[in-house]
Amino acid sequence: MGVVYDWKNDIDKLELNNICSFLKNGEIIVFPTETVYGIGGDAFNDNACRKIFMAKGRPSDNPLIVHVSDRKMLEKCVKNISELESKLIDAFMPGPFTLILPKNESVPGVVTANLNTVAIRMPKNMIATKIISSFGKPIAAPSANKSGKPSGTNILDIKDELKENVAAFIDGGNTEIGIESTVVRVVDNVPVILRPGAVTKEDIFNLVGKVKVDEHVLNEVKKEEVVLSPGMKHKHYSPRTQCILLDVSNEEKIEISSLIKNKNIAVIGLDIDAKIFEKVNFYSVGKDLKEFSKNIFSKLRELDVLNYNFILIESVGLDGIGLAIMNRLIRTCGYNVVNKKEQIIEYLEN
Ligand code: AMP
Ligand code: MG
Repeated sequence: MGVVYDWKNDIDKLELNNICSFLKNGEIIVFPTETVYGIGGDAFNDNACRKIFMAKGRPSDNPLIVHVSDRKMLEKCVKNISELESKLIDAFMPGPFTLILPKNESVPGVVTANLNTVAIRMPKNMIATKIISSFGKPIAAPSANKSGKPSGTNILDIKDELKENVAAFIDGGNTEIGIESTVVRVVDNVPVILRPGAVTKEDIFNLVGKVKVDEHVLNEVKKEEVVLSPGMKHKHYSPRTQCILLDVSNEEKIEISSLIKNKNIAVIGLDIDAKIFEKVNFYSVGKDLKEFSKNIFSKLRELDVLNYNFILIESVGLDGIGLAIMNRLIRTCGYNVVNKKEQIIEYLEN
């Protein structure tokens, strides 16, 4: 079991020295960022990176994001940066934004799953930045969770599942955004969103006047289909309990609410629907989409131990951060969507 450092109020200097020693020795740590918690190690150390894959049970063909603290460190990992990429970096880094760039030889193949590109992010969270700049080298870090499970947004949710392999857990409280960074790759001089996040398609469009959303952001990848990002193929954000996306009108919600009354079924949605679902096991994730993204993963973990037969999750619109939330929810639900109340009856009969 790794040590736990409480940095919710401030960063302890002695503990920061310990963290740097752990990283130098090729050990791995769990630390907060503004998106979700990361499980990280020295990005230039093969063995440290292998430990990350092991701790997560992550398929070795799914590359890691390399975290840097400034532009100089970013340039140590990549070959060349186009004018458009530079503009995106200046506008969205530091922040919840990851850019895929051509990698140079200092980044080991294990980090990038032998691709010739590397995913680079510069977090804004003070603790993350302090650790990377004090260590002085980039830190490879995927989300801190067992592969396939919802990402960790606080230490309590993830400590037990990762304790075997981690030297230290740094507690920075609940993460601010709650879902992972926006992943972008520039293709034919157009920014393509491979994974939506808190930097939205609208933000990118407003900056450079063009943006594409990869078709797999909202659609399942078919077998043998070639994708721009390996992570698109893998199972993601899934609790043990079956989840179903509920995409129906308000009238149908009222009918569904009566259908599932007295049943061992939970519903997750926004405050605004608490009234419609007042007679069922309704769990709110907050008052707006910002709170939805912040709370959804922790809520899924909370409900997953309550042994519901299934969990209905209300869909949201696709504007702004809505696209990122829906990208996670359709995967959480294994692409099971209910858009007519009759479909609920089928689930109830099974
Ligand atoms: P996570 O680290 O769990 O937040 O996931 C990182 C995401 O970035 C995964 O979906 C990866 O497949 C994706 N990714 C990392 N490196 C690359 C790369 N070089 N090219 C395309 N996608 C990448
Ligand atoms: Mg992840």
